Amino acid sequence: MKSVDQIYIDGQFVTPHGNEWFDLHNPATEQVIGRVRLADADDARRAIAVARRAFATVSRSDKRTRIEWLQRLHDAMQAREADLLAAIVEEYGAPASRAVWMARHGASQFLEAAQVLEDYAFTRRAGSAQVVLQPVGVVGAITPWNSDAGFICGKLAVAIAAGCTVVIKPSEMSALQTQIVSEALHEAGLPPGAFNIVTGRGDVVGAEIVAHPDVAKISFTGSTAVGKSILRSGAEALKRITLELGGKSPTLILDDADLQTAIPMAIDAGFINSGQACIAGTRILVPERRLAEAEALARAAVEAAVAGDPQDPASTIGPMVSARQWQRVQHYIRRGIEEGAQLLAGGEGRPSHLSAGWFVRPTIFTRVRNDMTIAREEIFGPVLSLLSYRDEAEAIAIANDTSYGLQAYVISPDIERAQRVAAQIDAGRVLINTLAHEPRAPFGGFKQSGIGREYGSFGLEAYLEVKSVLGVAA
Ligand code: NAD
Repeated sequence: MKSVDQIYIDGQFVTPHGNEWFDLHNPATEQVIGRVRLADADDARRAIAVARRAFATVSRSDKRTRIEWLQRLHDAMQAREADLLAAIVEEYGAPASRAVWMARHGASQFLEAAQVLEDYAFTRRAGSAQVVLQPVGVVGAITPWNSDAGFICGKLAVAIAAGCTVVIKPSEMSALQTQIVSEALHEAGLPPGAFNIVTGRGDVVGAEIVAHPDVAKISFTGSTAVGKSILRSGAEALKRITLELGGKSPTLILDDADLQTAIPMAIDAGFINSGQACIAGTRILVPERRLAEAEALARAAVEAAVAGDPQDPASTIGPMVSARQWQRVQHYIRRGIEEGAQLLAGGEGRPSHLSAGWFVRPTIFTRVRNDMTIAREEIFGPVLSLLSYRDEAEAIAIANDTSYGLQAYVISPDIERAQRVAAQIDAGRVLINTLAHEPRAPFGGFKQSGIGREYGSFGLEAYLEVKSVLGVAA
């Protein structure tokens, strides 16, 4: 049993004032593996006060100093990669192959931010004026459980690059990886208070950070419902707010695609992170005249997915993070059946070869209409929908008929055509014939998938205020 009973404030590990404990589980076994002592609103206020004090130093640091800090943060994270990997697998059941990517992605974001900084001009000209981009102030960073270490590092990297100080509120479900990340980042030796990590409940610590007048900006990644509540609470103080929210991403397989390769790629896009990904391609659109062929290939690809022990390299799908999440996914599978979608593979319950763990049967429905619940709501599990379209215009209309707009996938051998289609999709990122990540490209949502962008220079600008100074010599 691991016990996490410290939070990180002012460059030190301290005992929280809060005294509520939260059990941590291994979702592959359902066993309790540890517990975390949760911070409370007092702890959040302490962290905010410290971050405010440190802002005086950090905001005046020069570019070279920040680049050196980012390099040290990267090296410190890299040194703990193996420990982080083990924690990600244990507390949250990511299959080892995915967990490796997650552990490295965390560290790499510090180098990415350093490179953005190298090329970034904080002072520019506009007519006769000088334009200065200056750090916005204390940032509150609130992250979800589904890739916590990565989001903590990503938000911290950009905040430091901008010259901001940060109070980070990770998900309480990620306490083991948060502990490792905190220990690693501490080793980088940044000025005390530059970043503070306060694990606690969203409605306690998160809400305090959002409401506090000394926090200038909120960078939130999580569900659309909580994102909206943050926007409402932050409105009183007109906070700068970046929201990275949910998705219901379409994969458009155009009628000239080779289905033998397109369908497995589409299934992989849907099963990213065991389906627990905001970017998962959960609505797969295929031409109606090729539906039978697509169904046969989709059934085979979904049945080839292996749900099982995340430590086993053969497993491609891990468990759901919690019993609650498992129940939620089951509810959606039942809903799909009730609303008349046809099960092609998978279904309710736990895979029959597994006796414990919050595992879901990898599932795909066909004959799904876009107005069915399973095509509209974010399921956050390995449950996909196959929808058919008559022509390209209808495919684009179905793809855009959603309240979300985070990511979309287009598969076609004709790149010009795919680009024409991509131009008509309402999503912050469109991937053509690839599932690769591009850390320099801005990322964020249209519509209810969010507000603002992360990554690259667009991401940096979300942490800066713009000031025009007039009357200075040309
Ligand atoms: P969640 O919204 O329940 O929680 C996210 C974070 O917000 C947690 O740290 C939580 O404690 C905190 N929180 C909860 N209530 C709060 C409140 N009232 N005030 C302040 N903070 C509060 O989301 P989750 O279940 O942890 O994560 C899954 C969701 O995140 C999915 O909807 C997924 O699509 C989304 N997500 C989006 C992206 C993206 O980049 N767009 C990436 C990953 C996950």
